[in-house]
Amino acid sequence: MTRVLIVEDLNETLRWLSGIVTAAFPDATVHEASSQSAGLAQCARANYDLALIDLGLPDGSGLDVLRKLRQTQPSAVCVVTTVMGDDASIVGALSAGAHGYLLKEQPRDLLVMQLEQVVAGIPALAPSVARRIMQHFQRTGPSAPDDRLTVREREVLGLIGRGLRNVEVAQTLQLSENTIAGYIKDVYRKLGISSRAEASWHAARLGLGAPDRD
Ligand code: CA
Repeated sequence: MTRVLIVEDLNETLRWLSGIVTAAFPDATVHEASSQSAGLAQCARANYDLALIDLGLPDGSGLDVLRKLRQTQPSAVCVVTTVMGDDASIVGALSAGAHGYLLKEQPRDLLVMQLEQVVAGIPALAPSVARRIMQHFQRTGPSAPDDRLTVREREVLGLIGRGLRNVEVAQTLQLSENTIAGYIKDVYRKLGISSRAEASWHAARLGLGAPDRD
């Protein structure tokens, strides 16, 4: 028997996901939670083999449910099911220990197959998410351990990751815009990146205070 928890606030989506779970595991027992607090309560109440977790919930982020489950039920397979395919959300979920990251826009049959596979140990990644991760490593190559960011560079990266413009970063750190531009150039070079989107990906990866987004 497969015990499955689905954390999803939209009722229609919940029904749809529940149908996908039943298609993948006909004998599944499905528990449902439509908020972060209900999800956390379910984690304390029952043990699960698999959890599908939405990120944007009315009372907080599904990431907290994911972290709780990873902490208290290490054998539970946790898969994020979301509409958010941006880098920060992906990195946030993977660094919180997700075994999979699926997008609700994916075809139903693919979702069924990926759920079957993930409980067999094959990571479940939406194709577009897998491509983004591959592109990232194609661009950055192996990490160079002697090219570590300084404290100031991490600070600047964290602020950029939050979406601040150069002038705002300069104001926040009480430095000139030229100085900030210099730091950003060094950060980009060290990380092998060339865009703000990649900078925010790394900021999230390094835990530099990008807030959870819903
Ligand atoms: Ca939602």
